[in-house]
Amino acid sequence: MADRYANFANSGLGRTVVKRLGLPDPPRLRRHQPGDPLVSGPVLLGAAPGGRLGEPIRKTLGAAGVEVTDQTPDGVRVSALVFDASGITDSTGLRALYDFFHPYARSLEVSGRVLVLGTPPEATTSPAEATAQRSLEGLTRSIGKEFGRGATAQLVYVAPGGEQATESTLRFLLSGRSAYVSGQVVRIGAGDVPTPADGDRPLDGRLALVTGAARGIGAAIARVLARDGADVIALDVPAAGDALAGVANETRGRALQLDLTAADAPERLAGYLAAGPHTGVDIVVHNAGITRDKTIARMSADQWDAVIGVNLTAPERVDELLLERGLIGSGGRIVGVASIAGIAGNRGQTNYATSKAGVIGMVQSYAPVLLPRGITINAVAPGFIETAMTATMPIGLREAGRRLNSMSQGGLPVDVAETIAWLASPGSATITGNVIRVCGQSLLGA
Ligand code: NAD
Repeated sequence: MADRYANFANSGLGRTVVKRLGLPDPPRLRRHQPGDPLVSGPVLLGAAPGGRLGEPIRKTLGAAGVEVTDQTPDGVRVSALVFDASGITDSTGLRALYDFFHPYARSLEVSGRVLVLGTPPEATTSPAEATAQRSLEGLTRSIGKEFGRGATAQLVYVAPGGEQATESTLRFLLSGRSAYVSGQVVRIGAGDVPTPADGDRPLDGRLALVTGAARGIGAAIARVLARDGADVIALDVPAAGDALAGVANETRGRALQLDLTAADAPERLAGYLAAGPHTGVDIVVHNAGITRDKTIARMSADQWDAVIGVNLTAPERVDELLLERGLIGSGGRIVGVASIAGIAGNRGQTNYATSKAGVIGMVQSYAPVLLPRGITINAVAPGFIETAMTATMPIGLREAGRRLNSMSQGGLPVDVAETIAWLASPGSATITGNVIRVCGQSLLGA
């Protein structure tokens, strides 16, 4: 469904009307196109004294061909403001944030990026340091709401020992791939990670399974993973067979018709994956999902069961069997698709929000168990994304979903797909148990 308001607001007349009346002003977001450079201009890098992340970040960005500068003359715009706050050990040190962002706040170009890097509070050495590092969340979330014009702001906590593992995250958060991700907290764990031979095809040689891939977000995930080099198995119900075949053809992948709620679905899937040609699977994306909205007083037991069954029990059963059979091995990636409804709750969606909060629970409970096996598990939580699912919403709710976020517009399926591709990449080996919202910094559940 086209966002007519956003199209109007970006027209000549619309721009004047929006400005005069102080209406929501949805900017045209910069999204990644193949061949685009990582950033469109220099990155300004600042640091609080004693930080441990500034130099490794400078090296990583330099190796990726990014121009990094320590200051800019007045009036010169930068593509990103990056600040290493890991040296801040108590609340008086927070002043370094003001000293960096105050003079440069107006130097950021349209769709610019703000990254603050710090130490996970739980990995600090004193309560005062933990307090100061926890404070960084308030700064980044506020900048995300304040800067506008398509700018995004994120906090990246890097565990001690994870200094060399930031490349995939920088590539995602600084580029147009993260157009609709803002106000998020990313946690990178300790350890070294491989650098892909080809930064544009980090998934070369990997096999990915995407459920619910016939349309909407799932089809976009299949396309983006294939673009990044993966061989894709696109799975959906037999009734969606034609559309599924279209996605499989387009991505030069394979189509697998399977209803994930069938009693023997995990067994059939495991058999299919074990048969090869590539035994097992490297990336599993649990995207298939349904809604059956009603207030709980009006909801039938079937509506409850259907939603829990597709959205939560099916991913659980699939994970359990594939892991038990060793069909997801070291280097494996599991990504669940949750929803901001699972974080904030939503009227008329007790079943859906329960299932999506459950996806977050699945990710958080499996993460420590799978870490020693070299497998990561993360979730994305989309907000309002323009798909067939949201096109059926009543217009009032639909407009609220589109406007009540820092971008004043809905996201696109590709925004969710890009986030999953980042989590699935070999360079994200130390990112696990994260829940990343793809919601344009929605006010819901903030
Ligand atoms: P969609 O309805 O367009 O696509 C979902 C796909 O899942 C369909 O192709 C469907 O056939 C498939 N599917 C459903 N039941 C299945 C089953 N039993 N076995 C196999 N496949 C099955 O939905 P979408 O908007 O693309 O959403 C994709 C995911 O993102 C869902 O998990 C949804 O809950 C989540 N999500 C979407 C939004 C949004 O704004 N669209 C927001 C938050 C979360």
